Amino acid sequence: MLALSIAISIGLSLIVLPIAYLVRYVFDEVIPAGDIRLLVLAGVAVFLLSLVNSGLTLWTQYVTLKITKGAIQRFRDELLKRVFTFSRAYYSETDRKKLHANIVQDTHRLDNMSHALITRFLPALTISIALSGVLIYLNWFLFLTLTIIVPFLFLVSRSMGKVVRQRIRAFHRSFETFSKGMMFVLETLDLTKIQSAEQFEINRQRKHLEDLRLTSESMAWLNTAFNSINSVMTALSSVIILIASGIAIAAGSMTIGGLVSFYVIVSLLKNHLKTISTSILKIIAGNESLTTLFAILRTREPKPYTGRKQIPFGGTITLDSVYFQYNEHPLLQDINIDINPNTTVALVGPNGAGKSTIINLILGFYRPQKGQLYADDHPYNDLDIAHLRRYVGVVMQDPILFSGTIIENITYGSPDLDFQEVICAAELATAHEFIQQLPQKYETFVGENGVLLSGGQRQRIAIARALLRQPRLLILDEPTNHLDATAVRQLMINLKHLDNPPATLIISHDKDIVRNAQRIYVLQDGHVVKSHKQEA
Ligand code: ADP
Repeated sequence: MLALSIAISIGLSLIVLPIAYLVRYVFDEVIPAGDIRLLVLAGVAVFLLSLVNSGLTLWTQYVTLKITKGAIQRFRDELLKRVFTFSRAYYSETDRKKLHANIVQDTHRLDNMSHALITRFLPALTISIALSGVLIYLNWFLFLTLTIIVPFLFLVSRSMGKVVRQRIRAFHRSFETFSKGMMFVLETLDLTKIQSAEQFEINRQRKHLEDLRLTSESMAWLNTAFNSINSVMTALSSVIILIASGIAIAAGSMTIGGLVSFYVIVSLLKNHLKTISTSILKIIAGNESLTTLFAILRTREPKPYTGRKQIPFGGTITLDSVYFQYNEHPLLQDINIDINPNTTVALVGPNGAGKSTIINLILGFYRPQKGQLYADDHPYNDLDIAHLRRYVGVVMQDPILFSGTIIENITYGSPDLDFQEVICAAELATAHEFIQQLPQKYETFVGENGVLLSGGQRQRIAIARALLRQPRLLILDEPTNHLDATAVRQLMINLKHLDNPPATLIISHDKDIVRNAQRIYVLQDGHVVKSHKQEA
């Protein structure tokens, strides 16, 4: 399709050849002969040729537009998929606001660039080349005189190219900072107000705004300068044609019709050259964005696990002599933990002992440097960990709720489930009762991060979400942070009464909660210092 539309563009430029002939014929033959009928016929012919030209141009624009927009959608799709392949280690260390700015803005610039390149620059370039051919054919001497300005153009574009790239880069950087800054302001609005730091924040952001103004002003100025240079070149070419053709006409080697037809084609050429020059800045900007986006697509950080085996996980997890460190300091050493179906395991220990890290290891977000994890006796190395996670329900210390309704939050990731199942999960999670008391019940809007609910309500919704998928392993990280011990005890009783209760790993400081676990692991200084079994 693209090749066809380029071929049509070239074909289109050849339509101007008969137009040029007709113009010359009208000026040299028809007007001097005073043949009005022929004059009108020639006018109609020129109009029809122009109509064909416009119609085909429209069609090629339509085709190329579809192609480029489709390509951009695929590119965005690739980036979206790429985000889900980021490892936890990479993602934790990445500047997410910058990444967001890059993905959103740079794909937009790429969109502009591909539009400018495919639907404007390339057709204009092909047509310009063909028009130059027509001009050579019409009057090679005049065309040769015109090429005097080519070295000027070359010098100007060379010296401007570097400056343009530098300024575009600076503008992109300051736009990125502005975007990150605004995101920061919106995310930390509460903190800023609590700290009475409004003025401080405004002053800080103003620096970004000032920087953005300067770089964008400098870009716009460069654009204007670029256009002015173009106008000068255009004026120069007109003068050259006038003088050269004037001499030729005076010497009798050229007719007035010849000059007018040459002029008609030159003015067409000028339009296309203008299109080329206005597209160039967008193309350079898009090229810079393309480099940034390719860097995101190409980042290859090692994945913790690459196995492919998918198992119907039953709920047994074993940590066998596990050693783990995030950076140079050892965090976990020689950790042995067994979690079995239908039992509750408690993990206790001081802050920073590595309890949440053990959850990260079980979820396969990280891989231990020594030792091994097993799921139902299958080494993690062999397993498709994303598949394994489908059988695991996790409730984080600070549950993640997104802006939406309660039902949307509970069914996130499992949208096709029956409403009765949602109620069942909510009842188990001790959430149903409070939801029923809300004015809109399950359709109640929870606000960004669930701010319209209490901490305990958020936690109950997160537990309902985790239970809805009927996990074989349920992980509760410090549930008593937001829930009272009675609610957690009720949850444990509810789980026990299930036909096929999941294995439960619970991290808690609360002695009452821990007392109900069948096995307790005490973590300290990177070691399991105590592990004891209790009767249920
Ligand atoms: P706990 O849950 O027992 O309070 P964590 O497992 O959250 O402890 O953290 C244990 C230690 O590991 C802390 O010192 C923490 O700073 C460090 N840590 C946690 N996550 C990371 C990470 N992604 N990169 C580097 N260090 C981390």
